Amino acid sequence: MAPLSSSSSAARPTLLLVGGGIGGMAAALALARLGVSVDLLEQSSAIGEIGAGLQLGPNAFAALDALGVGEAVRRGSVFTERLVMMDAIDCSEVASVPVGEAFRKRFGNPYAVSHRADLHGAIHQAVLAHPLIRLHTSAHVEALEIGTPGVLAVTRDGRRFRADAIVGCDGVKSVVRGHLVGDAPRVSGHVVYRAVVPVADMPADLRWNAPVVWAGPNCHLVHYPLRDGQQYNLVVTFHSREHEQWGVTEGSQAEVMSYFEGVHARPRQLLDRPTSWRRWSTADRDPIERWGEGPATLLGDAAHPMMQYLAQGACMAIEDAVTLGEAVKACDFDLPAAFRLYESARVARTARVVLSVREMGRLYHAKGVERLVRNSLWVGRTPERFYDAVEWLYAWRPERCLDDAPAALCPAAPVPAATAA
Ligand SMILES: Cc1cc2nc3c(=O)[nH]c(=O)nc-3n(C[C@H](O)[C@H](O)[C@H](O)COP(=O)(O)OP(=O)(O)OC[C@H]3O[C@@H](n4cnc5c(N)ncnc54)[C@H](O)[C@@H]3O)c2cc1C
Repeated sequence: MAPLSSSSSAARPTLLLVGGGIGGMAAALALARLGVSVDLLEQSSAIGEIGAGLQLGPNAFAALDALGVGEAVRRGSVFTERLVMMDAIDCSEVASVPVGEAFRKRFGNPYAVSHRADLHGAIHQAVLAHPLIRLHTSAHVEALEIGTPGVLAVTRDGRRFRADAIVGCDGVKSVVRGHLVGDAPRVSGHVVYRAVVPVADMPADLRWNAPVVWAGPNCHLVHYPLRDGQQYNLVVTFHSREHEQWGVTEGSQAEVMSYFEGVHARPRQLLDRPTSWRRWSTADRDPIERWGEGPATLLGDAAHPMMQYLAQGACMAIEDAVTLGEAVKACDFDLPAAFRLYESARVARTARVVLSVREMGRLYHAKGVERLVRNSLWVGRTPERFYDAVEWLYAWRPERCLDDAPAALCPAAPVPAATAA
């Protein structure tokens, strides 16, 4: 356990991170690499990720490289050729964006898909190898005291962890956010089922090297290859008829089938493939301007939970981690100052993603005339115009990650010549 100590530029501060998901692991690595001593508290008894895939934009690879794990993640990823949207009723192509050579040249990195366990595992290995990170499992944080100086987190089994500062990386239902902000998640009413199937179970006519979205009325299906094409990730999403609560429960094939009745047989055949039927009822939150105060802040889904329609939640969590590290450096290890700098660099960008995702969900699930409009939106659009549209998202770079913060919060920013004179 880390002793209660005060921060100064001479002595590196100590930090509690609550949550050992992709965001918490990445943050532990970012901070420990700077010399910060980290206690990472994870409620599960074993570290791991669910059996499902993740799409990773070029912005995620830029952040992973900054954490020193980019190559390890690339090794386990499939680099896709295109991003595809199909109409799930008549099987027409709505959009198909090449993400090969020209895309990589433009954004400096590939668009890829990875098994969650492979991404999480690569970061976890680096965490385990770092002498400044102590990983505590079965550590469900229940109570917090955030004061000056120092913070205290108490776990369900009565363990007490003290440090100079705390970052809540504890996901959509964050206990740390409950303490700092106290707002409620916004249950979307959109339900997701996901599965990973062996290639042999994937219909031969759908084995595309692309994340493919089959957009239907109030529903959609997604598939893409994993692990050298030996597996396929399947995701189905629909607007639930039930009154939903956020969380994961057992589901049923019969329920899924009932939401895809109007969908063409070609994508519909995917619904027969999974053998496990876990059901995620999803939520996001309305963006907020501040994620904390004093020696506390939030990161990843705890800070900006979003629905999955732009495939960016984990990418944003990894960007957060890198930005937090850069802010700590810029503020010379004054953690409260660094947290405000980090928030000011991240709030607008992540809020833009949360809000864009909601719009994207509307396009995915369009019906009637909205569907016709959606299907006409991108006809004839060149790849370059697509790339221009996603420049704000995919062109993120670690070396510019503090650029959006006001100069006044950034002590390391050079004084402009005119002001200095
Ligand atoms: C269907 C679906 C598809 C998605 N696809 C993509 C995609 O393609 N690309 C992408 O970038 N993102 C995607 N996302 C989003 C992505 O999964 C999340 O944004 C990302 O996993 C968030 O990571 P996190 O570490 O912030 O939170 P989490 O992964 O939720 O991790 C939080 C951790 O905190 C722990 N914890 C919680 N409470 C406590 C507590 N009180 N004490 C201690 N520990 C605690 C949890 O056990 C967990 O390990 C998708 C999401 C969904 C639902």
